[in-house]
Amino acid sequence: MPYDFDLFVIGGGSGGVRCARMAAGHGAKVAVAEEGPWGGTCVNVGCVPKKLMVMASEYGNAVADSQGFGWNAQTGQHDWTTLIANKDAEISRLNGIYKRLMANCTTFEARARFIDPHTIEVAGKRVTAARIVIAVGGRPIDPDFTGAEHAIVSDDIFHMNALPPRITIFGGGFIGVEFAGIFAGLGRQVDLVYRADLPLRGFDEDLRTGLAEAMATQGIRLHPGRTIRTVSAAKQVTLDNGQTIETDLVFSALGRAPDTGDLGLDAAGVKTGAMGSIPVDETSATNQPHIYAIGDVTHRINLTPVAIAEGHTLADRLFGPGPRHWHLDVVAAAVFSSPPIGTVGLTEAEAAANGPTDIYLEKFTPMRHTLSKRPRKTTMKLIVDQATQKVVGAHMLGEDAPEIIQGISIAINAGATKADFDRTVGIHPTAAEEFVTMRTRARVSG
Ligand code: NDP
Repeated sequence: MPYDFDLFVIGGGSGGVRCARMAAGHGAKVAVAEEGPWGGTCVNVGCVPKKLMVMASEYGNAVADSQGFGWNAQTGQHDWTTLIANKDAEISRLNGIYKRLMANCTTFEARARFIDPHTIEVAGKRVTAARIVIAVGGRPIDPDFTGAEHAIVSDDIFHMNALPPRITIFGGGFIGVEFAGIFAGLGRQVDLVYRADLPLRGFDEDLRTGLAEAMATQGIRLHPGRTIRTVSAAKQVTLDNGQTIETDLVFSALGRAPDTGDLGLDAAGVKTGAMGSIPVDETSATNQPHIYAIGDVTHRINLTPVAIAEGHTLADRLFGPGPRHWHLDVVAAAVFSSPPIGTVGLTEAEAAANGPTDIYLEKFTPMRHTLSKRPRKTTMKLIVDQATQKVVGAHMLGEDAPEIIQGISIAINAGATKADFDRTVGIHPTAAEEFVTMRTRARVSG
């Protein structure tokens, strides 16, 4: 029996849109369903608006910094409503671009769910497809402390009418530390509560320590090793040690879970794993060979560029000349904290577990802050496998770290050795040149 579509993509976020438009470009008859605005989490309530907020938060300090360079400038008041209005206009523009990218696809602005392994119900219709891609992403995990209904999650912050003076953040992961920097930069009093001894579990220890120091220096009040026990209607936070925090807004950032509820996966015979994630093989296929899952719904590397790579590869494999190869084992990442982090490859602890590891480490005051007098340090680190002399990790906490680490990640993916870094001539005066001028080993690990 012929199907209505060659491919039906459920979810119009980064991964789904890339998969759909590549497949349509290869000549497939494609449909995409998205119940929210086009572009998904990244465009609407994630990477893009978050980075605009990071930029907003940097201007106040930049004005203060400028005084050391002779400017007689004073930081004025920040107007949150202007930021939100301008951000909304930019996101609407991006929504339109995403929609136009799917000009060759049939689009449904509605929720889709499986009726059977080849049938989808969407916008009151039933349609069939030979192949189906699940690209529904994730959603914030709700907190379970008493008074959780008084807390917001990251989705909510982008639509708030006002930002109150005192904010308590629960969670020391990506979102927790990024918004700690945003709120502090916008002049708010920030309390950051996290259960580990340092923020950003899984990151290199020197970066974790450096970021905790930098946040404390900015006046962010850190509560390591703590959890929230209760939040009252008046927004009084009580921690597990009995300490109380008077605050105006509680922002919970305890991770994200795959958004697979209500998709009808049972009707499709698709199995789920931990937290409702969809397990897939190396071709993105689920246990149903014609149904695929890409991006955050698989709960592996929950990053936009990975979802895009998976969607693109899948479309090429199914309808194109063959899949493009991506280095998904070495994926660079950034945390837009203050200062930001760029990281790629193994941490010191991970590399040391494999054998003796040479560690190169620099911590210095960046040039701008020699005059601004803002107490701010940059940390840069190279992790080198001693036996092969390959650079297996590069980590940076400091201005422009994500921009710099993107370039370094090419070298690491290409298998560059420390000698390759050493024979590369630096660009002066930059922070980036430190990556090619680190000569003295700080220590051997492992
Ligand atoms: P993360 O997984 O990064 O961090 C979750 C935080 O919540 C951790 O500090 C974790 O502690 C803590 N936590 C989890 N459960 C509990 C609990 N029951 N009690 C107390 N603490 C708890 O999640 P985020 O929400 O910050 O971000 C979600 C995802 O979004 C990220 O993992 C990332 O994939 C993506 N993201 C990427 C960004 C980027 O690329 N720059 C930016 C923002 C988000 P512990 O570490 O001890 O487990």
